[in-house]
Amino acid sequence: MKHSIELFKKVVVGHGVRWELGTVLSELGIGSKLAVITGPHVRKLVAEPLVERALSGFSVEVLEATSPSVEVAEGLADLVSSFRPSAIAAVGGGKSIDVAKYVSHKLGVPYISVPTVASHDGIASPFASLRGLETVYSVKTSPPIAVVADIEVVAAAPRRLTIAGAGDLVAKITAVRDWRLANRLKGEYYGDYAASLALMSARHVLAFSRAISRCTPAGLRILVEGLISSSTAMCIAGSTRPASGSEHLFSHALDIVANYPALHGEQVGLGTIMMGYIHGIDWRRIKRTLRRLGLPTTARELGIREEHVIEALTMAHRIRPHRYTILGESGLTREAAEEVALKTGVIGENYQDSA
Ligand SMILES: [Zn+2]
Repeated sequence: MKHSIELFKKVVVGHGVRWELGTVLSELGIGSKLAVITGPHVRKLVAEPLVERALSGFSVEVLEATSPSVEVAEGLADLVSSFRPSAIAAVGGGKSIDVAKYVSHKLGVPYISVPTVASHDGIASPFASLRGLETVYSVKTSPPIAVVADIEVVAAAPRRLTIAGAGDLVAKITAVRDWRLANRLKGEYYGDYAASLALMSARHVLAFSRAISRCTPAGLRILVEGLISSSTAMCIAGSTRPASGSEHLFSHALDIVANYPALHGEQVGLGTIMMGYIHGIDWRRIKRTLRRLGLPTTARELGIREEHVIEALTMAHRIRPHRYTILGESGLTREAAEEVALKTGVIGENYQDSA
């Protein structure tokens, strides 16, 4: 069976590396016209100083991605195509990068990822998560041609966003197990190397959780490299399988029942505790790690009603019916969902009384 892999050409991680963006673009042989897609807040803080200081030799058009939706991405694609740049630089968090991926793919123009937060592993993955997509949660795009991840910028982002990135990496523990299960039970393609790479990024979080929780330069570096590794695993697998399993389905379900209540990495982290329990692995260790990182481990800490957890658990298997996971084809019964959430302490003992 043929399997082809597309990867980025260059990854630059370090303190102050954003100022090397112009050099990186030149080394890659990218022409002098550049579209920068950024967010309203990041524009002033990071993108504009970057354009002034590091991209003086380029003709640059700065555009704002106001929301991670297909509508916004389509609008920006029209603007970008009239400018005809040789590349797009995505300077921002999840929103700007997801929109830039979509625009880049639609127009066939390469993009460079310049993440300003370390909140999820989409910073270098070839999948764009946008609202307004029909029936799916992400569309396949190309990987970025380069990633320039400045630790100085990431360190200045709110701590909550950074820690959420660690939650997204812990999620690989169950995602990889779900993928293997889909291979064993459904004959789905499974790549050991991609799976090991994704799992390694989660293991690094477990091993270095204290440094990450304190957001030390070394901790941030481990986190950013882990997120890029997880993105690489998706590039190698050609799907989001190594990075997204039942815990992500739970998070998507929670977005529906509670209207995007918390950060992606926080929600998938909580999901990993419960899916870890169902998988029969050491879920207590996962919970301890999340707690050490300062991530939510209960419905209350996540800021949702306990009932939302039960609802999301019982509907998670229906979110992406073709993505086979430990939840199986018929999912959890209400009783089983209550048991999982109670046993793992995600909901409290007096849940029945309050429900
Ligand atoms: Zn994720």
